[in-house]
Amino acid sequence: RVKTKWAATRPKFPSTELALHNFDTTYSMQFKDLWPSIRVAMLCEQKYGALINSFSSEPHIITDLEAQGCKDFISIGCSSNEVHQHSQEDTTTSHRDSTELEPAVLQHNISLDIKCLVFPQGDTSRFKPARPDSSGILGYYLLDAASVLPVLALDVQPGHTVLDLCAAPGGKTLALLQAHSVDYLWANDLSVSRTTRLRRTLQSYVPKELLDENKIHITSTDGRQLGLTEENRFDRVLVDVPCTTDRHSAMVEENNLFKRSRTKERQKLPLLQTQLLVAGIQAARRGGHIVYSTCTLSQLQNECVVQQAISLAQEELGITVQVQDLRWFAQCFSDTFHFASHLSVGELVLPHLCANFGPIYMCKLQRIN
Ligand code: SAM
Repeated sequence: RVKTKWAATRPKFPSTELALHNFDTTYSMQFKDLWPSIRVAMLCEQKYGALINSFSSEPHIITDLEAQGCKDFISIGCSSNEVHQHSQEDTTTSHRDSTELEPAVLQHNISLDIKCLVFPQGDTSRFKPARPDSSGILGYYLLDAASVLPVLALDVQPGHTVLDLCAAPGGKTLALLQAHSVDYLWANDLSVSRTTRLRRTLQSYVPKELLDENKIHITSTDGRQLGLTEENRFDRVLVDVPCTTDRHSAMVEENNLFKRSRTKERQKLPLLQTQLLVAGIQAARRGGHIVYSTCTLSQLQNECVVQQAISLAQEELGITVQVQDLRWFAQCFSDTFHFASHLSVGELVLPHLCANFGPIYMCKLQRIN
């Protein structure tokens, strides 16, 4: 038997094991009987979506993907006006009252300019890498399809100014640009190396002439400061915060937040997330909308952060924010994603073996004064 060369330097407790232990303790209480099936899905191969790049001149991207069996989950979700009534026994999706939801479906906008194709439920086929067009612009961007939902929920309208507070590596920034309605986009991320990655992503997907500083402004600064410096400025603010990235933490050793040396950093996450959300609220104009999102199942990093930020904004800044109901929105996409039920605020996509997207949490707020 050959001994592995690095056996002596291998940690006694791999970070992935520590993460799973932590999840088993907290999520078995949070999700009760549902936790084992969420756990199994999180440990299996994640499903991707192909975010179609409307800047590519490649002619047959969508038809080629459709020929492989893929469908645009956004247009399907929007066209299904029929609102399903869930049975009380169905615990994986929310229990919604259809009569209450129908008017909301009709009132709200979902951008059909954003297209994201996925393989059907239960089909675990993989996407081929995207091809460049004659100018080198790639045809699609692969990402967890559920991560497009916070962008759709933000509902960017023509002429809007948008702040993407924690933007790198840039999947959601790219999705925001697909709507072609953004008048001015400020994409920020604290990490210089990740901001460099964001720039590279945009260079591979957006024509040079559109990457104009007056239209797309990219910075590497602490998002918490932008609340003060850019107060009351943006129509839309996306606050896609750093979190325990549950799927990554359960599967990958590299850059794992559950590494013992990163315990303090991990414990401080809810505070950082709250401060970032308060900054996002402050940077939104009166009447503007803010979407808070994470890729964790943790109630402490999701609902608790939202509640805490709402209180702090009111008490310390005198800003009132109102939580926007996204139940109609989850209802639209419930054929593609499995949403958690009974959340106090926001919506949460749960990993599921037949639709292995997420976790993605999102909550939409409106700044009132
Ligand atoms: N929105 C990105 C996307 O869709 O590709 C993913 C964002 S990732 C979940 C969170 C990001 O927050 C990381 O890139 C991290 O560098 C950044 N971050 C951490 N602390 C920050 C801070 N204080 N201000 C701004 N960004 C921060």
